[in-house]
Amino acid sequence: MSEDTEAEEATAPTQRISSFVFAVILITLVLSLAALYFALSAYNSGDASAGILLIIGFIGLGLSTYMLLQTRRSVMRLALKIQPVITTISCQKCGFKNVREFERGDFVFKEVGPCPKCNDKLLVSAIYREIKEKPKEERF
Ligand SMILES: [Zn+2]
Repeated sequence: MSEDTEAEEATAPTQRISSFVFAVILITLVLSLAALYFALSAYNSGDASAGILLIIGFIGLGLSTYMLLQTRRSVMRLALKIQPVITTISCQKCGFKNVREFERGDFVFKEVGPCPKCNDKLLVSAIYREIKEKPKEERF
């Protein structure tokens, strides 16, 4: 599946960003939940700080949710930017065609072994970057 290769290629830059951002989000989330917990106990004991803690808790909760959504969006954008390079191999004699991922050393008209159909030479006929998403969306 092409989706699997996309995910594999996107792991390296994505993980570096997410590990730091997720730590920040997690801390914010834990702190806001703690604030909400303290707000609840302050409310139960009739403390006036309950309202402030409640506001802090909700702001923190909203902030961490917002950051999480932003991170997911940027990760998805990164994943979209890294498109696999495709190498098309074809037989000049019988017209057999094979499409696979680009490998180091691939070039157009390179011989890549015998044709499985007619045993003639298989040549690299095209190398291109696969673009799946609508290009208009990326500009906005
Ligand atoms: Zn052939």
